[in-house]
Amino acid sequence: MDKTKRAAIIAGNWKMNKTPSETTALIQEMKPLVAGADCKVVLCVPFVDLDAALKAAEGSNIGIGAENCHFEKSGAFTGEVSAVMLKEMGVEYVIIGHSERRQYFGETDVTVNKRVKAALAEGLKVILCVGETLEQREQGITAELVAMQTKIALLGVSAEDAANVIIAYEPVWAIGTGKTATSDQAEEVCAIIRKVVAEIYSPAVADAMTIQYGGSMNAKNADELLSKVNVDGGLIGGASLKAEDFSIIVKAANK
Ligand code: PEP
Repeated sequence: MDKTKRAAIIAGNWKMNKTPSETTALIQEMKPLVAGADCKVVLCVPFVDLDAALKAAEGSNIGIGAENCHFEKSGAFTGEVSAVMLKEMGVEYVIIGHSERRQYFGETDVTVNKRVKAALAEGLKVILCVGETLEQREQGITAELVAMQTKIALLGVSAEDAANVIIAYEPVWAIGTGKTATSDQAEEVCAIIRKVVAEIYSPAVADAMTIQYGGSMNAKNADELLSKVNVDGGLIGGASLKAEDFSIIVKAANK
């Protein structure tokens, strides 16, 4: 398998952190540090920070994303934001199915699928998160679980649209815990996801798909994780809030 066929993407997930003014300041700090990166650089920020992020990132190599979107275009969904709204703002990426959405906000595989389709229909690039809990890993059902999550999320998504999907393998037990999957664990599950994508579509679609690892990736462990053939980048939470650390991860993906 030729890793160079795929775009490496390092994406930050700021979660519920940073105000609009802090967003501007952090992106201004990051811009010179990540300029000239060989990989794609993306920052996914809270809805209220999107405008500031888009303005701060203008003319740079940083793409901006949201952290979620609703599956309807408009309507009585208090507190939600649609893909149509994001697209009109100039947002390029959206994270769908993050484990915190599944855990705290009742997101299911079925609603993840609806959101994925809605986002793709508007031309957004989707960062689709899948991953097992510690309990599921200990039960030995990681492979089946991520296969099922991937299959349901991509139900009804055409091979053409799948080109705009990035999958982030995020073991729930490694998110925000400081516990990182070993590079072999990350490689094993990313390879399983790629196999599932090949079964759904074709080996060519699977070969071209960017599959990231996420879960306590940081400036120290990024090199090792990103050296794996099936790990095409990272979805970074905590370390994406620090310009220096994030830029070190971006550089690790350039190698
Ligand atoms: C995430 O939020 O997607 C994530 C991977 O967080 P962290 O890097 O903090 O574990």
